[in-house]
Amino acid sequence: MAQNTEKYNTNKRPTWCPGCGNFGIHMALKTALAELEIAPSETFIAFDIGCNGNGADTISTYGFKGLHGRAVALASGAKLANKKFTVIADQGDGACFHEGIDHLVNAIKSNYDITILIHNNENFALTTGQATVTTNQDKPMYGQPYGKPEKGFNINEFIMSLHPTFFAKGYSGDIKELKDLIKKGIKHHGCSVIEISQLCPSYNKEATPQWFNEHITKVSTLKDYSNKSYDKAMELSKKMTNDKIYTGVIYQQNNVESFYDNLKNRKNYKTELVDEVKEYNIKPLLKYFE
Ligand code: SF4
Repeated sequence: MAQNTEKYNTNKRPTWCPGCGNFGIHMALKTALAELEIAPSETFIAFDIGCNGNGADTISTYGFKGLHGRAVALASGAKLANKKFTVIADQGDGACFHEGIDHLVNAIKSNYDITILIHNNENFALTTGQATVTTNQDKPMYGQPYGKPEKGFNINEFIMSLHPTFFAKGYSGDIKELKDLIKKGIKHHGCSVIEISQLCPSYNKEATPQWFNEHITKVSTLKDYSNKSYDKAMELSKKMTNDKIYTGVIYQQNNVESFYDNLKNRKNYKTELVDEVKEYNIKPLLKYFE
C-alpha cells in the first residue's frame, strides 16, 4: 500500500499524536488517489484549520490551507477554475459544523462536483479539546469541566435533510473501507460528503479502537437496506448517534447535474478559466495592503 502512495508524500513528518486517526485518513486518501491513478499534479486539496489541516504539509498535491471553516468555499472555487482537477475539501467537525456550516449547506444544495472529507473527532482538538456541536451533551471538555450544557446534534439527519447526491460514513481505523468510500466519492458526479469517525486519543479518550469496533455496523450487513432509497437513508440517519455508527455509502443519487453543468454563461467555452488567465499584474492589488 505504501509503495503506491510515495509520490503523494512530502519530506515533512506529521505532527499528530501517536494513535491519531489522521494517519489512517491520509493513508486512505493517498491510496484512493493512487488506485484511481490521479496524479498529484491533477489534484487540489483545500485544507482547513485544525489538526487535520496540519496534514497539508505532508501531501504533495496542489493545495491551499485557508481560514477556519472555509475549505469547502476554497474547493468549490478551485473546481470552478479548472473542472479537470480532482478537488477535495478536507476539514474537521469543528470547522464544518461551526464556521463552515453555510458552505456545507451551499455545496450540497448546489451539488458542487467536489469531495468533502469531514474528520469527526467530536472536539476542537488543535486548541486542546473544546466541545463542538458533535460532542455529547454533559461530557466534560476543556473550559467546561462540569460538562457541555448544549444538546447534541444529529449531523447525519442534518446532511440528509439537504438532499445530498452522495453521503457516506467511514472510520479512520478501517483504512480499506475508507479508501473505497473516498474512491466512490471522487468518482461520483456531484458533491460527495464523507463523514469520518476519527480516533483522537488525546481529547476523545473513551473512543478507543475497541470502542469503535463495538459501536460500528457496516450498512452492507443490513437486511433490506438500499442506499438508493432516500427514505431508508433518512430513517437510518435519524437512528445514528455518536454511540450508534453506521459506515458505508448511506445514500447515492446518480445522474444529477452538478453546479458546473448548469453555468449557462460557460456553455460555449472549450477552455477552463485557468486557461484564459494569461498574465495578471497583482501590484495594484498589493497596494491595498501597504
Ligand atoms: Fe490527532 Fe487528537 Fe492529537 Fe489532534 S489532538 S493530533 S486530532 S490525536
